[in-house]
Amino acid sequence: MVAIDQYNISPEIIKVSKHHIEVDQIDNDARSIIQRLNKAGFKGYIVGGFVRDSILGLKPKDCDVVTDATPEQVNSLLPRTRIIGRRFKIVHSRSGRKITEISTFRSSSQRNTQKSNKGLVLRDNNYGNIEDDAFRRDFTINSLYLDIEKMEIIDFVGGFKDLQNKKLKSIGDSFERFKEDPVRILRAIRFKAKLSLDLDKKLEADMKKLSYLLKEISSGRKYEETLKMLLTGNAELIMTEMNSHNLLEHLLPLTKDFLNSKKDKRFIYNALKNTDDRYKKNKSLTPAFLFSVLLWPALVNKMGGITSKKTKLHNISRAASLILKRQNENCFIPGRIQQSIKETWELQIMLLRVPEKSKVTLKHKRFRAGYDLLLLREDSGENLGGVGKWWTEKISY
Ligand code: ATP
Ligand code: MG
Repeated sequence: MVAIDQYNISPEIIKVSKHHIEVDQIDNDARSIIQRLNKAGFKGYIVGGFVRDSILGLKPKDCDVVTDATPEQVNSLLPRTRIIGRRFKIVHSRSGRKITEISTFRSSSQRNTQKSNKGLVLRDNNYGNIEDDAFRRDFTINSLYLDIEKMEIIDFVGGFKDLQNKKLKSIGDSFERFKEDPVRILRAIRFKAKLSLDLDKKLEADMKKLSYLLKEISSGRKYEETLKMLLTGNAELIMTEMNSHNLLEHLLPLTKDFLNSKKDKRFIYNALKNTDDRYKKNKSLTPAFLFSVLLWPALVNKMGGITSKKTKLHNISRAASLILKRQNENCFIPGRIQQSIKETWELQIMLLRVPEKSKVTLKHKRFRAGYDLLLLREDSGENLGGVGKWWTEKISY
C-alpha cells in the first residue's frame, strides 16, 4: 500500500511561467474530449507521458486524459469511444488512426482491489478523486495533471521537482509498488533510458530483488511492454539494462543466451542500433522484424547454421515453430506476427538461390524484411558469398 502520509497532501500548483507548456502544444483530440467532459459537468485533465515529456521539451508519444466520469459515463457521452480492459477499465477514443486513452480517477485503497497471494494487483476498478489518483500512479514524474483551461499543473507528489532534477522516484515504497505490479520495473528501465534519469540505490535494488515476479505477468502484457522498450529509440541502452537487471529471462530468454557470444551480441546490437536510428528518422518499425532478429541466433543454433541454399524450407519452418513456441511461453507474439517472422526466416534460404529463383523471391511479400535481415547478417560479419551485394544491385535497377 502507498504510504500517503510521507507527502504533503495540498498540491503544488505550477504555472506556465515555470512549466513552459504552451496552449498550442495541447493535443486537439484531448482538448475536445476535456471540453465535452467539462460541458457535462465532469473534470478532465491531461496526465502522464504527455505532461512529463512536454515539460522536458520532448515530443510526447501520446496524450492520456483522466476524468472523474466513470468509463460508462465517458462512453455514453463521447462519440467513437469504447470501454476496454479487465484489470483496469479504461475508455479508448478514436480519431482516425489515433487513440486517446481516457481513464477514471482511481484510488489505491485496498477496499476493492483484488490481489493475488504474492501481492500482485489483479483487478482494480476502485474509483476515487484526483488526489487518490495521484498516489496510485507509478512514479512521481508520471503524476502531473495539466489543467488545460488554466494551463496549470497540479502536483501532489513532487514530480515536477523530481523531473527537473532528473530523478525517477516511486510513489510510496518502491518494494511494495513493484510487488503490486512488476511491470513497473520495466517502465522504470524505459523511463531511465529515455529521459536519462537517476535512480536511487533502493529503487535499483528493489528492481533487481523483484524482477522474478515478472513470471506472474501475462505473456501478452509482457509482449506489449517489450515493444514499448525496444521500438521507441533507446533499444541498445534498454537491452543492456534489461540484461543487467536479470529481466531477459522473463521476456527474451532465447536472446539472453546468445548475448554471451561475441558474434551474436554484435549481430543483435547492430540490429538494435539500426532500430534506434530508424526511430529517430521517423522510419517505419515492425515488431515482426524486431523479433526475427532477436530470435535469429536461436534459430541458427537450432538448425546448426543457415548458409546453404540447399537447406529445406520445411526444416526452417519446423525449427521456427519450436523457437516461437519457447518464446511464447514468456512473451506471447501474436499469430500474424509469428507468421511474418517465419516468412522472413524462410526468405534467408530463398535469397541465397540466385540468380535462378530471384524473380519469385523478389515478388515475395516479405522480400524487404528478408533482404534487410540478410544485410544485417553480412554487416555483422557473416560470409554469404556477397549475395547481399547481388540483391542490392538487382533492386537498384
Ligand atoms: P508513454 O510516453 O510511454 O505513453 P506514459 O507514462 O504516458 O508514457 P502510459 O502507459 O501511457 O505511460 O500510462 C499513462 C500513465 O498511467 C502513466 O504516466 C502513469 O501515471 C500511469 N500508469 C501507467 N502504467 C502504470 C502502472 N503499471 N502502475 C501505475 N501507474 C501506471
Ligand atoms: Mg502515455
